[in-house]
Amino acid sequence: MRSENPGAEVKSLMDDFDGLASNLINFLEYFGNEMLLGKAFHGVIQEGSGEIKFSRLLKAAGYEDNPEGFFSELVRQLEKSKCCERQEIKINNIVFPHLFLMPVLEKILPGTRFISVTNVSQLEELASVTVAEENRKKMQAVIERYPVRLSMHAIRQMRLSEAVARQYLPFAEELDDSGQPDTWTGQFHRGILEQMYQNRVILLLNMTCPVYCRFCFRKQKASRHYPAPTREEIKKAVTYIKNSLSIKEVLLTGGDPFLNKNNLIYAIDELAEIPHLQTLRIATRSVSYYPQLFYADNSAWCHYLKAKNAELRQSGKRMEIATHFVHPDEISPQSLALISDWVRNGLCVYVQTPFLKDCNDNYSELARLFSLLRAVGAEFHYLFMPCEPIQGSHLYWTHISQGLAAAAYLRAHVSDRCFPKFCTSVPIGKIEWHTSGWAVELDNEDENFFWIRTPYTSDYFKSFSPDTEQLKTVRVNAEGTLDVRYMGKIGDESLFSGSRPPREQKQQSGTLKELQAAALEDQRMPQTVVSTGSPTLFRIHESRAETDAGADIEAIKTNIAYLRQHERISDVVISSKKDSIELLDKVSEFIKMLRKIPHITAVRLRSLKFNYEPEIFTHSVIDKLGSLNKLTTVNPLRLEIETQFLHSDEFRLSHKNLTHALNNKGITVYNNTPLLSGVNYSPEEIVGIAYQCRQIGIEFHHLYAAGLPLQNSWNENRPVDSGDVIDIASRLRRDGSGREIPKYIIRTELGEVDFGLTSKLVEAQGQTWIKLLPYNLSYYRDMDAGFSLPAHVKTDKDGRLLIPAKGLSV
Ligand code: SF4
Repeated sequence: MRSENPGAEVKSLMDDFDGLASNLINFLEYFGNEMLLGKAFHGVIQEGSGEIKFSRLLKAAGYEDNPEGFFSELVRQLEKSKCCERQEIKINNIVFPHLFLMPVLEKILPGTRFISVTNVSQLEELASVTVAEENRKKMQAVIERYPVRLSMHAIRQMRLSEAVARQYLPFAEELDDSGQPDTWTGQFHRGILEQMYQNRVILLLNMTCPVYCRFCFRKQKASRHYPAPTREEIKKAVTYIKNSLSIKEVLLTGGDPFLNKNNLIYAIDELAEIPHLQTLRIATRSVSYYPQLFYADNSAWCHYLKAKNAELRQSGKRMEIATHFVHPDEISPQSLALISDWVRNGLCVYVQTPFLKDCNDNYSELARLFSLLRAVGAEFHYLFMPCEPIQGSHLYWTHISQGLAAAAYLRAHVSDRCFPKFCTSVPIGKIEWHTSGWAVELDNEDENFFWIRTPYTSDYFKSFSPDTEQLKTVRVNAEGTLDVRYMGKIGDESLFSGSRPPREQKQQSGTLKELQAAALEDQRMPQTVVSTGSPTLFRIHESRAETDAGADIEAIKTNIAYLRQHERISDVVISSKKDSIELLDKVSEFIKMLRKIPHITAVRLRSLKFNYEPEIFTHSVIDKLGSLNKLTTVNPLRLEIETQFLHSDEFRLSHKNLTHALNNKGITVYNNTPLLSGVNYSPEEIVGIAYQCRQIGIEFHHLYAAGLPLQNSWNENRPVDSGDVIDIASRLRRDGSGREIPKYIIRTELGEVDFGLTSKLVEAQGQTWIKLLPYNLSYYRDMDAGFSLPAHVKTDKDGRLLIPAKGLSV
């Protein structure tokens, strides 16, 4: 085996020509597709075996009979490439995607270990950077103050991507002390346990990571060198959890807990014995920057996780992997394979992303990141905006307004199933923007701070952190929740929304049965934002179309032709008047046709009978669904079940068993609930639905404030009050796990928007209007050149569209 000292051992191509060629041919064989390598490069290699693709590439590059010359040129350019200096690697105008170059770099810079960097020369050699003479002292000071660690995988990626290098390479500006030494307030700490919420805790099992992100809030040397917890400390923490009946979830983290096998396995075994615990979440970034960790020892961790999750499921519990990706350049075949393998085996993987200046604040790159991860099975949790305002990380800080602009972009351009929650982590918990929290006002003593309204109250903290209200950075506002003083920049003063007065809850009554029957009358939603030319195909978004499973063969052919032609569609929802599962033979033929369309990566079967008649999901139906779910690294076609629960009383044990069986086939079940006056229109009821979904393993996807067909008639004379949506969101944020909070959606004839986040409710001309932030006329014209706006839609001076609100009031 080669040395892993890359600086000293950079090999020339000619030393290992055969190895290099077979690495590339293998790569092209398995991963040479359009989704991973992009349209232009795929146009060169096209389809076929690895060898055929490779010979096409050689020919196009002008090296048809000279593969050695091709490699020689490729390696010459790669050896010259430096971290942080973006240069395209190209031959004969063929630009090589970085995923294609990784197998070459694996030969040039081999190895799987991680390396602690202790001085500037070592950094220069490892990362292929040059530190200017005048900066060397400062850089050494940075390395000593904020430890640097890199994995070989990250080093290879850094050579090809500025966005990756920017996350891990130290920079002299880290010595600037702007920011806070610590973002966590001490009263939440109990040894290795941190409790900020009543129902969940963080358990720190290991303080180091294989790679140190420069924006990390634990970047101080003291945190990095904190000794790993002892068994006694873990026992004490487990006893606390055992005695705290309100705790349902534990996040096992650090550092990376997978670096401390003994602690992690011991903690999981102990926690598995606690009856009231439901979910163990394990946080690791190694999926992106050190995937080899999971493949070591014959994939020992992979086997362990799958087996342990299956064991936990037997006692009604489960595990989830919480991972962290920042930029699409971090995606590798190894990381995609890990995610798809885990999800196929019933282990949920969810992704969170810090929003970082000059790293991933390019919205289209974020869209690509989320789309790739969604296709292989990931769920999406938080986009943190900004990253923690910790000392030494100010170069990464973004304004809140930029994060909100990213939300509008993503709402327009990615599948709703990979749209994250836009959240800020304040010192007393998290808020989601414009539902459970908002910017109140600028701090009048220091313009680097502003006040954020949170959903938390003094009462909330009484049982586990009674001193919270006494914090200088916290104040009680007029409605009785807590505002917190936060370090950051708003970016747009019009986002300061002030406080709101106390509110009273209204009581309403209605009949659930009546609505259940109405819901089942027709499950289709025949609404389209642009014309598709087919009465059985509805385009509801740039990325999503809905089709009627009952369509005849001619209509199916027309629909397939439209889907093939429109490359931005990634998701197809299949519905039918009765239930898509009742037409499974027809549906499966349709899915087989979709498999031949590479840009379609997800199929979603609407089944309200999942809720009302779960017995239609027989063993053979589940097996058939499993066979249709193509959760693979390359050309995936992910299958999901979309269902609808109207009330917490509707949940049964059979739903749990069925969800479990579907999860074991890698199939996610998600729920969309419409807010219905008199039926589920209260924070308690929505908390009940969220709790049941989480317990059962159903993703609570959307809570519709307005616009679903069922709501349009039911809520017509008793509209949903926007203040009540905020009350519901605030209550859910306090009482629910972060993983059980839905997105709050308004469906309109021009597409879906997020309540508050990507839409605004405005009063004008005696009526309520919804201002749509993600969409404008050209958005629709890009899908349909002949599109024109309906007469009742207005456009404001900024080109934003305003549409009359139905079933909603301010
Ligand atoms: S992986 Fe997480 S804990 Fe580790 S350095 Fe990066 S941000 Fe910090």
